Amino acid sequence: MFVVTIDQDKCEGCGECAESCPADILGFENGKAFVSGDANDCMGCETCVSVCPAGATSIEEK
Ligand code: SF4
Ligand code: SF4
Repeated sequence: MFVVTIDQDKCEGCGECAESCPADILGFENGKAFVSGDANDCMGCETCVSVCPAGATSIEEK
């Protein structure tokens, strides 16, 4: 399974990851993205990694 994490310090607040996550588990509030759903529901598509200009998102396979 896959687990997503977002580095709050690196996030530049573009909101792209939350917009594009097909699992709808990423939220966006006060200029920062965060995991709003169950991080374990990540499908590992890496869309949030490819759209992030800051390298703030990472996926770990467990
Ligand atoms: S890898 Fe895909 S499913 Fe997982 S959080 Fe990123 S966009 Fe969503
Ligand atoms: S794509 Fe990257 S910089 Fe943009 S909101 Fe998501 S984590 Fe932040």
